[in-house]
Amino acid sequence: MQISLTLSPSKVPILFPPHQPISAATPKTCRVSLQTHVGPVHALKESGFLPAIGRAIEEEEYRLARSQVARKGLDLEGYTIEGISIGGQETCVIVPEFKCAFDIGRCPTRAIHQNFVFITHAHLDHIGGLPMYVASRGLYSLKPPTIFVPPCIKEDVEKLFDIHRAMGQVELNIDLVPLDIGETFEMRNNLVVRPFKTQHVIPSQGYVIYSVRKKLKKQYIHLKGKQIEKLKKSGVQITDTVLSPEVAFTGDTTSDYMRDPRNADALRAKILITEATFLDQNYSIEHARQHGHTHISEIMENAEWIRNKAILLTHFSSRYHLENFQTGSPFQLQDIHQAVSKLQSKVSAKVVPLTEGFKSMHT
Ligand SMILES: [Zn+2]
Ligand SMILES: [Zn+2]
Repeated sequence: MQISLTLSPSKVPILFPPHQPISAATPKTCRVSLQTHVGPVHALKESGFLPAIGRAIEEEEYRLARSQVARKGLDLEGYTIEGISIGGQETCVIVPEFKCAFDIGRCPTRAIHQNFVFITHAHLDHIGGLPMYVASRGLYSLKPPTIFVPPCIKEDVEKLFDIHRAMGQVELNIDLVPLDIGETFEMRNNLVVRPFKTQHVIPSQGYVIYSVRKKLKKQYIHLKGKQIEKLKKSGVQITDTVLSPEVAFTGDTTSDYMRDPRNADALRAKILITEATFLDQNYSIEHARQHGHTHISEIMENAEWIRNKAILLTHFSSRYHLENFQTGSPFQLQDIHQAVSKLQSKVSAKVVPLTEGFKSMHT
């Protein structure tokens, strides 16, 4: 059974059950008071400075744990990333710097203010919030959003909006862009997006967002400012355009995309946002593959291909929890933090789980 504690700032959680000694090194006076079945926090108050230090540490630990749980956005490689992703329930990962959301299972409020949405595939936990997102933007008089979809679902998405327009007798204004693998779309003058191939049980694709900058061609590097200026005025192309992959988002996929050389940019983007639906030995790699998903052990096996600086793991099955709840069940599932620490030991990239929406013993 899971027990959730409701805590207010004035209440310090009881970290040590009354029937257990705090540690072997605990002063005798403390042990005596604990054996009288007085609550541990109360017991600590009755003795000298050591318990006071213990209490301060306890409060600090609690404060840290609580702030981890309450924190919404993640800071990764200069980007703030927020959102929610629970397998089969909803996925929407937002990068405010790009004004974009990847997938939109249920339309969290924060997503409404993003101008671009990238849809990876048509499962409801990834596309279900799309009509609500468009309607909400209309309600707030925000400009029509640009929605990217795999070309094979474009017509169905158009029909979906036609049905909502007819049923609700509303204007739903969108700029729908079917973007195929290998095509490039300019989001703004220094930012472009390209889809890449993923493998799921229905048609799917991931997206890489690139920053764009101009770099002086090698043959002109030795020239002085005035000479460069003169060349430029004469109409000579003096710069090359350089694309740097910043953020890659896979959506639902098997791990096969990691071994496709055409997907190299996804694996060298500063941040790779990928899925790890299954985390433990209760589910085999075969099971993950059959359902079009990735098992975390496959990411470990493919560690040699990963060049990203950070990996954000998403789409954990709703069977998992943040920490081990000590249920005593021999079939207890691996918790998310344990699984992530195992992957961290295999890759040089920083590994972070997107855990918004998952239960914690600190909530
Ligand atoms: Zn999904
Ligand atoms: Zn799916």
